[in-house]
Amino acid sequence: MAQRVDSSQPQAHQSLTRFPSIDPRTSEVIAYHQVDDEASVHAVVARAREAAEWWRELGFAQRRRRLLSWRAALTRQLDELAELISAETGKPRDDARLECVLVIAHLDWAARHAKRVLRRRQVGSGLLMFNEASSVGYEPYGVVGVIGPWNYPAHTPMGSISYALAAGNAVVFKPSELTPGVGQALADSLAAVIPEQPVLQVVTGFGETGAALCRAGVDKLAFTGSTTTARKVMAACAETLTPVVIECGGTDALLVDADADLAAAADAAVWGAMSNAGQTCVGVERVYVVDDVATSLTERITAQARKLRAGGEPTADLGPITRPEQVDVIRDHVAEALAQGGTAVVGGADSVSPPFVQPVVLTDVPETSTAVAEETFGPTLTVHRVPNLDEAVQRVNAGRYGLGAAVFSRRRGARIASRLRCGMVAVNGVISYAAVPALPFGGVRDSGFGRIHGADGLREFSRSKAITRRRFRPLIQVLTFDRPPWAVQLLLRIVRVLYGR
Ligand code: NDP
Repeated sequence: MAQRVDSSQPQAHQSLTRFPSIDPRTSEVIAYHQVDDEASVHAVVARAREAAEWWRELGFAQRRRRLLSWRAALTRQLDELAELISAETGKPRDDARLECVLVIAHLDWAARHAKRVLRRRQVGSGLLMFNEASSVGYEPYGVVGVIGPWNYPAHTPMGSISYALAAGNAVVFKPSELTPGVGQALADSLAAVIPEQPVLQVVTGFGETGAALCRAGVDKLAFTGSTTTARKVMAACAETLTPVVIECGGTDALLVDADADLAAAADAAVWGAMSNAGQTCVGVERVYVVDDVATSLTERITAQARKLRAGGEPTADLGPITRPEQVDVIRDHVAEALAQGGTAVVGGADSVSPPFVQPVVLTDVPETSTAVAEETFGPTLTVHRVPNLDEAVQRVNAGRYGLGAAVFSRRRGARIASRLRCGMVAVNGVISYAAVPALPFGGVRDSGFGRIHGADGLREFSRSKAITRRRFRPLIQVLTFDRPPWAVQLLLRIVRVLYGR
């Protein structure tokens, strides 16, 4: 009989040497994983340093060939990987498959574009230094540590891993304690096609293992997770001036204008809020809709959300809440919203039945309520009427997060998008930017900083290096103790003529 654990009880894990990964739908143990302590994390990073040298020396073309082989292997293993993602997170089978598609698309793009983005290129030297040939190149950091969350246990860390590897780094990845098997499966899959050196290794365990990775001498740390943990990661990395890229959560909004396609907006609001049971960093948490169309949009959202069911079967619309403690957060946010005058037009307090939460749609919830101001990370949505989109923009920009957003408007989509303080906006769509590998991904304020994906993501995992090469002696030599007294005078005259008007 499969072993079950009481996942609602917090476990003391200081003295554990191994821990189970658990299917949140059934509480059955999937597998046991080792707890990597500080010494073993250091040993893994030391091995990664050797691998990084080898990987760097291979050059762009060889790395591209190997990473494309890995992409092909992951494509062949798609169903197997999706099965494991489903088992560890509980998400429906097709959602897990879609996650794998994102993994493959990003890995392909990173492998194919690394050379174009990162190779050394000439830049103009400017009039004053025209005797120099100037170029900028991008070099790998060496060993990149990646710490990832559980909600998209393959796609989210691969947003860093693919780009870090393509830029020539070796990677040590610490997956969430809820999804260690997916992390290990990614590393095993890579090792099968790149057997020479361990360019991707996994360390498993709890928060302490992640903290040890921050202090293990990695050259850069890419963190994805909550803002609270991000602060701890930054504090640990500050001890050694280790640079970080920080991808945290959000309270993303969807704005609906009077001229919007309401059917499309309602569909996007419900999918954006409820898919993956609302456990998406760029998931829609709130909708702002102008008065004229608010009733019609709310009716459409209500009708669609009512059709969705959370359950444990592979074909359910929504899976369970993966992290048991998150159920309490969702319950508290819904209860507070209702106590503060909110109305539940779909579901309500009794929608929470661990490990599942049925869809909840709330109206008339104050902006200060936790359901609006904080990340709920469940299949819940608050809908707000606004007199115009200017007010919506103001309310969205007042929040402490700034990850993504969506705007539905036939005429003003791009204009509204440019006024939103966040990292990504989908116009007449939702979350679509995450599936475009060429686009950077990341937030502002409490949602973090730095960028993964796209050319910016490749550069995030590279150090720029500037080189100037003297082509001929300058006419006016000023960068020497031997300069004649008139040299600076002449240079200043030229500067005044060139720049003084
Ligand atoms: P957490 O912040 O709880 O954990 C993230 C990772 O950090 C886990 O691997 C965790 O390990 C590890 N960790 C915990 N404590 C420490 C520590 N002291 N030092 C170093 N590492 C540590 O986030 P969740 O896993 O709960 O993920 C959900 C959050 O991630 C949400 O806020 C979501 O919005 C955000 N997210 C952001 C994305 C983005 O790209 N912006 C994408 C996806 C999610 P362990 O699990 O073992 O405790």
